[in-house]
Amino acid sequence: MSFISALVHQLIRPEILALHAYHVPVSDGFIKLDAMENPYLVPAFLREEIAAAVSNAAINRYPDPNPQILKQKIRALLELPQGMEVLLGNGSDELIQLLAMAVNKPGATLLGVEPSFVMYKMIATFLGMRYAGVPLTRDFSLDMGAMLSAIEREQPALIFLAYPNNPTGNPYSARDIKAIIAAAPGLVVVDEAYYAFADDSFIPHLAEYPNLLVMRTFSKLGMAGLRLGFLAGSELWLNELEKLRLPYNVGVLPQLVAEILLDHHDVLLAQAEQIKQDRSKLAQQLGAVDGVRVYPSAANFLLLRVARAKAIFEALKQRGVLIKNLHGSHAMLEDCLRVTVGTPAENERFVAALKESLQAI
Ligand SMILES: *Cc1c(COP(=O)(O)O)cnc(C)c1O
Repeated sequence: MSFISALVHQLIRPEILALHAYHVPVSDGFIKLDAMENPYLVPAFLREEIAAAVSNAAINRYPDPNPQILKQKIRALLELPQGMEVLLGNGSDELIQLLAMAVNKPGATLLGVEPSFVMYKMIATFLGMRYAGVPLTRDFSLDMGAMLSAIEREQPALIFLAYPNNPTGNPYSARDIKAIIAAAPGLVVVDEAYYAFADDSFIPHLAEYPNLLVMRTFSKLGMAGLRLGFLAGSELWLNELEKLRLPYNVGVLPQLVAEILLDHHDVLLAQAEQIKQDRSKLAQQLGAVDGVRVYPSAANFLLLRVARAKAIFEALKQRGVLIKNLHGSHAMLEDCLRVTVGTPAENERFVAALKESLQAI
């Protein structure tokens, strides 16, 4: 072993050495349906407005560490109850990290369900925090018996529930989530990354539960490249989390562009509406294909089960279509694939390529 390699192994924590870096596949030239992105740019008039604002932006200066106008726009969109605030993150991934850092006392536990968004567990590992994962039922709903006993046993400081869930796409029963919030001794974060495609939200319930925070991101709504997410909840929580937030975590350009886009939130919601309609159409088409099981989704993607997911995934790639292979990521996702809803043309290409792939393998 070289000197540098020995030193790396001596200094870096073993749980970090054991990790695999988060794998983002090369997607150049592919029909990209792997990452829940909105396939549409905003209309030309808005892009021109953004271009003009960016050309005048003071990028020589540090960003405003507390962008009141942007936060006010978000508060207004959410119709936040009295006493509730928002905290901005460099994507919601950063907020997951901030929350975990804030409660990570010796012995503290982060509790998640499985299968769900992998960053909850990864961030616990990054921080050396204990993680407990509770399996969902076979139809991917919350296993309330298992959840309530895990809460009793683990006394988790922090629980994350993605609503709707990623990668399964289903929303849990709101009643079940409420029972979990009521039973939890610590914070419960309802992660509404897919709010634009779903029919329900916990924001109206913020005032009812002192241990509830709602997290959202604009990534799935058409701003994945900006990296902007937020937490909404009581300022008593958020004031503490603010102390941990790095002061310039949201740059000048994301602030500026997000302000413009939020003034045109209706444009983004109209795109989301289109995506919801195309989701139904795609689900219907895929449901009619022999050998494909489609799970119900309230997000901008569909979970599928096929006979040989890995082979189908590769065959789709050969045909220029990139989706997500979930086989091997969790026992309950055996032979599962996840496809993001794209433009109607992309969806058609995907369905055609899938049919060909099923024939070819
Ligand atoms: C995509 C996603 C996020 C992360 O979003 P960013 O704001 O882009 O970091 C968080 N939670 C869930 C459930 C997601 O699917």
